Amino acid sequence: MAGKAGGVRCIPHGYLPNDTTMETDNQINSNPEGLHVVAKPTGPLCNLNCEYCFYSEKKALFAPDERYRMSDQVLRAFIAGYISSQPTPVVEFVWQGGEPTLLGIDFFKRIIELQKPFAGTKTITNSLQTNGTLLTDEWCEFLRMHNFMVGISLDGPQEIHDRYRRDRKGAGSFGQVMRGLRLLQKHGVEHNVLACVARETALRPLDVYHFFKEEGAEFIQFTPVVERIADSMSRGVGLRLAAPASLAEEEKQTEVAAWSVIPEKYGDFLIEIYEEWVRHDVGTVFVMNFEWALNAWIGNPSPVCIHANTCGRSVVIEHNGDVYACDHSVYPQYKLGNIKTHRLEQMVKKSIRSGFGMVKETALPRWCRECDVLAACQGGCPKHRFTTTPYDEPGLHYLCEGYKKFFLHIRKYCHAMTQLLENGLPASRVMDAIKGPLVIRRQ
Ligand code: SF4
Ligand code: SF4
Repeated sequence: MAGKAGGVRCIPHGYLPNDTTMETDNQINSNPEGLHVVAKPTGPLCNLNCEYCFYSEKKALFAPDERYRMSDQVLRAFIAGYISSQPTPVVEFVWQGGEPTLLGIDFFKRIIELQKPFAGTKTITNSLQTNGTLLTDEWCEFLRMHNFMVGISLDGPQEIHDRYRRDRKGAGSFGQVMRGLRLLQKHGVEHNVLACVARETALRPLDVYHFFKEEGAEFIQFTPVVERIADSMSRGVGLRLAAPASLAEEEKQTEVAAWSVIPEKYGDFLIEIYEEWVRHDVGTVFVMNFEWALNAWIGNPSPVCIHANTCGRSVVIEHNGDVYACDHSVYPQYKLGNIKTHRLEQMVKKSIRSGFGMVKETALPRWCRECDVLAACQGGCPKHRFTTTPYDEPGLHYLCEGYKKFFLHIRKYCHAMTQLLENGLPASRVMDAIKGPLVIRRQ
């Protein structure tokens, strides 16, 4: 977009196949873009104990003696079923966790081995989301050889990263993650940085951004951390964090966890980085949040679910083959079936029939429908739509204030970049373009 139109490979949370607007049964069958699966072959198992992690507590959903290792039977069924369900020439596998590298290289060698006979004429790609602490030369040689795209979780410089990302003894993980990042760089493994923006992180935007630039990060994605304290339904299944908001009625429990980012501060965080990026780094550093915003301004469907108008096509498969409606919806009420007994297409249909995908749009409050930045925001992820609007409607996103501030702030830049791109000029000339059309000259 701002630099590499549509060509950026990234592993965002909730990545979607390109067209997220088709929702009926027939449309699923004829949808040329298919569906998308995030695989969690270790389930919630991780070697770290990050304070804000929303997934480690999912152990409460499984038996106490669970091994959290995807069996060969489940792996084979998933790989075969996923490839056959995709009408597209390229099938993208995303391996996430928990921490998938805990399974060891041999597990991933087996993945490559199993993909080959089912691929036929299709191109298979693999992405791995990791905390980076267990990477070795051997791992990186393997990842490079098989063209894995690696997303590494790193929140910023040491004092910021270690504030939340610690091991079970309470020690920071920064040193180990940086060692992993250096190995990826040394072996030329394609990678990007996924940074979580928790409450205290949001207060240091330029420290975070400058650090990433100094470390040579070219592809960065910021993910706001929002968690709500469990209501009685979630506590009933042993979870400390709340399940997705209902959208239909006012939520009684709106207390957020202490590490959740403050809405306005999240907007300020993105704005400060954007102001720096737009002056110096357009076309050389790719901040995915900014790419998505420009994408929406141009009028394209969102490539990420949180800012798409509907959900439902990006499901999660757990280590035991259970399939859930999405990464934010791994709760018993959102379970769609198991890969050993159900086809992926059937499970996605079931999700859509249940209204899971459409409710995001149909339950949008009037406050959002009248909003100037609806096209870019789309109301955000339903899981976090647990506050009420100034009209007293339920279903407003917790981060609304920050989203609105950010999307309004960058409108003039997105407008200028769109004009540049339409005229065949590089988006990096945006600071000239916002002065007015007469200033733009072809070089
Ligand atoms: S509920 Fe929708 S927007 Fe939220 S993570 Fe799931 S698919 Fe994405
Ligand atoms: S910025 Fe706020 S009001 Fe506007 S669409 Fe997003 S959540 Fe709704």
